Amino acid sequence: MRIGIAKEVAAYETRVAATPETVKKLVSGGHSVVVQSDAGRLSAIPDQHYIDAGATVVATAAEAFDADIVLKVRAPEAVEIPQIKSGALVLGLFHIYTNTLLPELAAHQLSCFAMELTPRTTRAQSMDVLSSQANIGGYKAVLLASQYYPRFFPMLMTAAGTVKPARVLIMGAGVAGLQAIATAKRLGAVVEAFDVRPVAKEQVESLGAKFVEVPLTDEEKKSAETAGGYAREMSEDYKRRQAELVDKHARNADIIITTALIPGRPAPVLIQSETVGKMKAGSVIIDMAVEQGGNCPLSRLNEVYTTDNGVTLVGIANLPGLVAADASALYARNLLTFLGLLLDKEGKIVLNREDDIIAATLVTHGGEVLFKRPN
Ligand code: NAD
Repeated sequence: MRIGIAKEVAAYETRVAATPETVKKLVSGGHSVVVQSDAGRLSAIPDQHYIDAGATVVATAAEAFDADIVLKVRAPEAVEIPQIKSGALVLGLFHIYTNTLLPELAAHQLSCFAMELTPRTTRAQSMDVLSSQANIGGYKAVLLASQYYPRFFPMLMTAAGTVKPARVLIMGAGVAGLQAIATAKRLGAVVEAFDVRPVAKEQVESLGAKFVEVPLTDEEKKSAETAGGYAREMSEDYKRRQAELVDKHARNADIIITTALIPGRPAPVLIQSETVGKMKAGSVIIDMAVEQGGNCPLSRLNEVYTTDNGVTLVGIANLPGLVAADASALYARNLLTFLGLLLDKEGKIVLNREDDIIAATLVTHGGEVLFKRPN
């Protein structure tokens, strides 16, 4: 098969969907790989490394898109769709709940796989792009916080006096939150975290952080988590109790990192504007949910600014993209493993729609949009 990788065109996108490591494996599997010149530049991969791995480097996106399988980081944009060979398979992150181009992708006879819909199962773990990228995002969120925070993270006892450790509050203890806890702990901070899913308590505590609990009713305990392990949107009463608790803990925090998402819904508001108004000067909020509307209404997409009372809000969206080389390396490996589901031993495409991973991720096929938005 001919496999194509073009340079990503989305703003702030620094990642690339194939690396010399994955290209080499594809070429040794009998495929030909075409990479657009400069596709890997922002991930620290020069064209020559792709050539050494056996790829052909081409000048234009149209040449890279003239392929049976197209590997992308972001879903194709309107200008890219007509350039992709009709009938091709396209793998990428589709921002599926807000993507408005699915009818056009289907009309162009593309079979698109939204990698973010990969089920969170043991079999799919090595293809789980949400986990590989959230892990990096959680790490980078802490490093960004340390950049904007005007004090030390660890406690220091020096001849000039003692410096207190930073108090970090992590909201949402999924993949990103747990990595943020681990990273903040390694830097010497005192860390607290909370999540709606009661099972997160044990994971938070195993990393040495304190779990902050919003007391749940028996009914809420049963309904806080979906069968797929995701959080559900909570009741108004829960949101009020949570806001009170957050308000108390936020006032003591130096750094807050928010990661809370609900699939298919806007991100839940966890830090009210009034709470930000009560936080200490010099404190920092990193809102990792900013692209889904933000966990704090004051966050601004792709902006960093400081409020009148001295709180710095960081709304940088693509945190994995700030660790582009490793983010690309892991993402490209996820895609390579996923391709194993789509190609038979002879390297030909076989679309087994009975396979639960293929069924969950295939969003357009045969001229139709298969993805159904939840109500
Ligand atoms: P996510 O990115 O969808 O959300 C981040 C965290 O925010 C989650 O822990 C969620 O519970 C939490 N959250 C949502 N609303 C909240 C609120 N109002 N207040 C506080 N916290 C809130 O989550 P994720 O990191 O993608 O993980 C989702 C689930 O998938 C978890 O159960 C995780 O353990 C599971 N998972 C399983 C596998 C696997 O088995 N292969 C791999 C990765 C993740």
